[in-house]
Amino acid sequence: MSPNDMYDLTSQNGLKLKALAKFYLEFSNAKDLIKICKENELVSNDLCVIGEGTNSIFPTNFNRFVIKPAGNKIQIIENKNNVILKVEAGVKWDDLIDFCCKNNFYGLENLAGIPGSVGAAPVQNIGAYGKELSENILKIEVCDISDKLIKELDNADCKFNYRESIFKKNKSLIITSVFLNLSNHFSPKLEYKDFKNQVFSKSADLIAFVREIRLKKIPDQTSFPNLGSFFKNPIVDKEAYNSNQRLKPLTQVHALKEQVKLSAAEMIEAVGLKGLRINGCGISVKHSLVLVNTGISSSDDIQRVEKLIRERVRKAFGINLETEPIYL
Ligand SMILES: Cc1cc2nc3c(=O)[nH]c(=O)nc-3n(C[C@H](O)[C@H](O)[C@H](O)COP(=O)(O)OP(=O)(O)OC[C@H]3O[C@@H](n4cnc5c(N)ncnc54)[C@H](O)[C@@H]3O)c2cc1C
Repeated sequence: MSPNDMYDLTSQNGLKLKALAKFYLEFSNAKDLIKICKENELVSNDLCVIGEGTNSIFPTNFNRFVIKPAGNKIQIIENKNNVILKVEAGVKWDDLIDFCCKNNFYGLENLAGIPGSVGAAPVQNIGAYGKELSENILKIEVCDISDKLIKELDNADCKFNYRESIFKKNKSLIITSVFLNLSNHFSPKLEYKDFKNQVFSKSADLIAFVREIRLKKIPDQTSFPNLGSFFKNPIVDKEAYNSNQRLKPLTQVHALKEQVKLSAAEMIEAVGLKGLRINGCGISVKHSLVLVNTGISSSDDIQRVEKLIRERVRKAFGINLETEPIYL
């Protein structure tokens, strides 16, 4: 690695923002990463880990040491009543879906078609179509940069929640492998509204169905680079919901015991911002939760649109939208 080389990461981020890194390195496994950190005397603030860049907003110039997992192995640890897989962080998420489908390992079908790496998937506890990844995580192997040790965190240690986990807060933890608990029996989870009246006799059909509806809803990545949903769906306490009349006309995506989950997309549409364009950054006409790059020069353009959406939604509904992607 030479400090004179600049690495162009423009093609490695979902928004296709121009991004350069002075130091960029791929590591194959946890031991390899520990060795790199010791040799270069790196502490966690020096590092920025990336996967496929599909949930990150890249800066024009990284001033940190950019690292990326390249380990690509999927290991079957146990295959008796249920299946345990050890999957290295560099595996692409949707390749794992195909691997499971081919081998008749079940449980992840609803998460088909989500871009990104296996290593990043637990970071925001990826979820779609009524399913969250945390339901199938047994444990996670991490490299802890703070003490340069390899550790295993069990599911409870990861503090999973809706689009949340410990990995969003503790940046010293670099995920190197994910252990998944899957089933040998196909038992599809079909509560989500898009599955109404659908019957699936095999996992391949459910996977194909999910991929197809995703393609219809989300703008094409090549013409409209994007990061999927830009805002989380707001979750409001029942008491706050009942006392805020402005929320009453909105759809309840999910009625939980003490809380109500609302649709951020519906709020953005209600304030008339669907299809907005400012300086090459816009809100997709196909899906109002998706911000698209139509010629952005930097992350500042994204922030401008993000701020405008937040302000309008706060004014109209008294709700603070939370951003889903991460500014690196
Ligand atoms: C078209 C589209 C559709 C999407 N649909 C969905 C969806 O349905 N549901 C959903 O939940 N998400 C969705 N996403 C978001 C995204 O695909 C996921 O969050 C995915 O897991 C990100 O993976 P990545 O490898 O690209 O992560 P990156 O963007 O590279 O990284 C994301 C974050 O994780 C950190 N990180 C990356 N790798 C590691 C690691 N090994 N250890 C520790 N931290 C790490 C990064 O520092 C960064 O903070 C969508 C995105 C797009 C573009």
